[in-house]
Amino acid sequence: MKSFEYVAPKTIKEVTSALKRHGKRAMIVAGGTDLLVKMKGRALTPEVIVDIKRVPGLDEIKFDKKNGLTLGACVTMREAELSPVVRKHYAGLAEGAEIVGSVQIRNRATIVGNLCNAAPSAEVAPSLMALDAKVKIAGPRGSRTLPLDQLFAGPGKNVLKPGEWVTHVVVPSPPPRTGSAYVRHTTREAMDIAVVGVGAAVTLAPRNGICKDARIVLGAVAPTPIRAPRAESLLKGQKLTADLIAQAGQAASEEARPISDQRGSAEFRRDLTKVLTERMVTRAFEAAKKG
Ligand SMILES: Cc1cc2nc3c(=O)[nH]c(=O)nc-3n(C[C@H](O)[C@H](O)[C@H](O)COP(=O)(O)OP(=O)(O)OC[C@H]3O[C@@H](n4cnc5c(N)ncnc54)[C@H](O)[C@@H]3O)c2cc1C
Repeated sequence: MKSFEYVAPKTIKEVTSALKRHGKRAMIVAGGTDLLVKMKGRALTPEVIVDIKRVPGLDEIKFDKKNGLTLGACVTMREAELSPVVRKHYAGLAEGAEIVGSVQIRNRATIVGNLCNAAPSAEVAPSLMALDAKVKIAGPRGSRTLPLDQLFAGPGKNVLKPGEWVTHVVVPSPPPRTGSAYVRHTTREAMDIAVVGVGAAVTLAPRNGICKDARIVLGAVAPTPIRAPRAESLLKGQKLTADLIAQAGQAASEEARPISDQRGSAEFRRDLTKVLTERMVTRAFEAAKKG
């Protein structure tokens, strides 16, 4: 690994100043489970590493009914997976977090690092997008908030400008009678990345059980995680039946833009998208009925 300078600021402002001062030479490290692998392989050779783990409060998970869920940039997969609040109100997120790597990896890997790394297969992106998450960004010109689906610019690329970094993820409080779910298919049982990942969230109208809202997000089948709007619109305003959900699965598979690689052909990925979408919409629907 190439040698580098290490800085560990203690406030959000100091992190931003360090990033501004060192410009393109600097990169943030959170858990390091993506960054250090890339540095060892010399795919990335930052000269300055800005460690954000010393900033107080960034490891906090906060929830209240009015503001929803706020996850600091240092919240790990393991913390999210074990959080009673996440498991109760944001099941899809817990299901994404709990399958990342191994316990050792999840004890270091952060939710925000997974998003900023911007892999098309990023495990927590589909469920967080399905739950309408936003990211809070700090930068030299102040802070801004961005819908999560606008963070991704392509494989391994995000839209953060020089000096900007993500401080928090914010997820609104789910409306009553909302359920969410996430699943991925991998070639190996564990320690593998998704061939396809699907996150879904379904909200039912309180009285008649009609589908009020449906959000379906596909991972690893396009350069970034993507919504499946045609599949979603088939469900919205309808009474959900197995047949309708199967039609939504078919529509999602047509909306996917997969490539063929060593993990599976494009055709296989389309088939998986159909099946996994059906399963996740059904699971979110069942959870919404209980909510
Ligand atoms: C063995 C192994 C198994 C894995 N399994 C999975 C898996 O199953 N599913 C999966 O999705 N991933 C997997 N990963 C990848 C990785 O663990 C996750 O993407 C993890 O969540 C990254 O978080 P981190 O905190 O380690 O990020 P880091 O490595 O610290 O950072 C990742 C990137 O994001 C940037 N960054 C981090 N935080 C911020 C911030 N707050 N603002 C701006 N930029 C930031 C960094 O500069 C870097 O470019 C695996 C990795 C390993 C080594």
